[in-house]
Amino acid sequence: VALALTMTACAGTRGGGGSGSTAEAGAAKGSLVGVAMPTKTSTRWIHDGDAVKSGLEKLGYKVDLEYADDDIPTQVQQISNMLTKGAKVLIIASVDGTALSSQLDQAASKGVKVIAYDRLINGNKNVDYYTTFDNYKVGVQQATSLLEGLGVLDKNGKDTGNAGPFNIELFAGSPDDNNATFFFNGAMATLKPYLDKGVLKVGSGQTGFTQVATQGWQADLAKKRMQDLIASTYSNGQTVNGVLSPYDGLSIGIISALTGAGYATDKLPTITGQDAEIPSVKSIIAGQQYSTIYKDTRKLAGEAVKMADDVLNGKTPEVNDTKSYDNKTKVVPTFLFEPVVVTKDNYKAAVIDTGYYTESDLK
Ligand code: BGC
Repeated sequence: VALALTMTACAGTRGGGGSGSTAEAGAAKGSLVGVAMPTKTSTRWIHDGDAVKSGLEKLGYKVDLEYADDDIPTQVQQISNMLTKGAKVLIIASVDGTALSSQLDQAASKGVKVIAYDRLINGNKNVDYYTTFDNYKVGVQQATSLLEGLGVLDKNGKDTGNAGPFNIELFAGSPDDNNATFFFNGAMATLKPYLDKGVLKVGSGQTGFTQVATQGWQADLAKKRMQDLIASTYSNGQTVNGVLSPYDGLSIGIISALTGAGYATDKLPTITGQDAEIPSVKSIIAGQQYSTIYKDTRKLAGEAVKMADDVLNGKTPEVNDTKSYDNKTKVVPTFLFEPVVVTKDNYKAAVIDTGYYTESDLK
């Protein structure tokens, strides 16, 4: 994987606020930063963790990077340990965005700043900053690409007048991940007019978030649910034309259920995804998965490093959103990045020309 772990990749994404060379910066050097990541089952988090760690180390910080195996008690324990070891800043991509309150209270009592990474932490005021991709927009993009793959919209997002009707099924992410509802709400707002007009039909009738959510973002649960949907709804000659999938790992499980049920690999429904993971980009190139959402983890990691460096040096990190992310106690100041839709048409420009992957990664 050619994922360059340099922080230069984000240099052009924002201006000002430089640090690291002042007298105070010297004082902060050597401080410990705790970095809590949710899981290694998805490669994106490995890239995130590596990039955050190397960025911090380049600035002279010590780093305690931990992965929680998608297990809440494990992550709680890891964060407690970071505080015990004397971490001065915590960068947290939470497993469950509501389970960390006593650790956050402890952090605040020690003057430790908390940066929520990618996923918002809810229900506690001691979340100082947040950096993420525009999560609602991710959902809008997923649904727009689903409509495009079905031929309801053209490549410029214009309605083609194609009235279908198309059978679709919906999948959402993990209920404990704050992002999952943002993705789903963005997608549903985009699909709604077409559901209302009958251009799209959810064959199973399962349209509520809790009905379609996938605990722990687990691919095998999505595969099992897709198998059940095929058996319950599509065994009488009806076919599935489209599947809203919020994450590449789930898309792979969904494709496996479909091919297992006899769908030919060149006649799969339009299936979306997220994260531009290598197996899914390959699947897109092969004409199986239709789209994914590319979120350059180098940018996000670079921003988290920048925020940590700023707070350690008594500076206020720059943010670009102070309204979208209310964590039920306050609106958390956020630095948002733009997600990018990737299909067969633009994957080269999106993930190869940007140096995220090499051609050979995708062979
Ligand atoms: C992230 C997605 C990822 C998902 C599953 C979400 O919180 O924003 O990028 O696909 O978790 O790991």
